[in-house]
Parts: sequence; C-alpha cells; structure tokens
Amino acid sequence: MPKQLQPGILYVSEKFGTAAHLCACGCGEKIRTPLGPTEWSVRDTAAGPSVWPSVGNWQKPCQSHYVIQNGKVVRHAQWSAAQIAAGRHGEQQRRKAHYNAMYAKTSPWQRFWRRLKSLFGVE
Ligand SMILES: [Zn+2]
Repeated sequence: MPKQLQPGILYVSEKFGTAAHLCACGCGEKIRTPLGPTEWSVRDTAAGPSVWPSVGNWQKPCQSHYVIQNGKVVRHAQWSAAQIAAGRHGEQQRRKAHYNAMYAKTSPWQRFWRRLKSLFGVE
C-alpha cells in the first residue's frame, strides 16, 4: 500500500485484506475499506473495479456517500443522522449474522467463552 495515493485509483492489498482510495468527492481523505465477508468486497470487471456495499464516509468532514461500480463513482445523497445510525446498525447486524453462522462451527471452548460473555451482557 503506497503512502501517497493517486485520486481515482483503488488500491487493493490482498495480503492485508484491505483496499484504499482517495475520497471520490475530491477532499483528499484516504478511505480504507477492509475486505471480508462482513466488510467490503471488491470485484474486478472489464470496465474497472466494483466495491460493495457503498462507501459512506460519515466519519470524514465531507460525509460523502457513493458506490464504486464498474470503475465509476455513483454518488449517493449525503448521510442524514438517521441514515448514519441505520448504516451503523446494519453493519452490526451483518457482523452478528456472520458470527452467529461461525458460532455453529466453533469449538466447545469458544462456545464457553461466548456464553461467559453473554452472561455479562457483553456483545
Ligand atoms: Zn470527501
């Protein structure tokens, strides 16, 4: 991953399981999108990369929101406070579903640990 990113380029590091690009609004913020089953996925198409789900930079000053699709940036409306809350909630739900699916395959020890955590209300 280079220190200086060029605008309009999606950098993907399979080794580190992450991708990065400069914010598509032009503000120059470096946006990291971790890759994985509960994070973002990058698909290579003939026209360019696609990143899914949308990139919502609500933690950045510009709060831009867009989808990278076939190498093109499709802008979405800016996040409202309610959408930000819903987006965060959706992320949590996705993670929960993923870890619940993994839970079925965990060892008894891990299961014990989970139960312990839930006893204390840590989720
Ligand atoms: Zn921006």
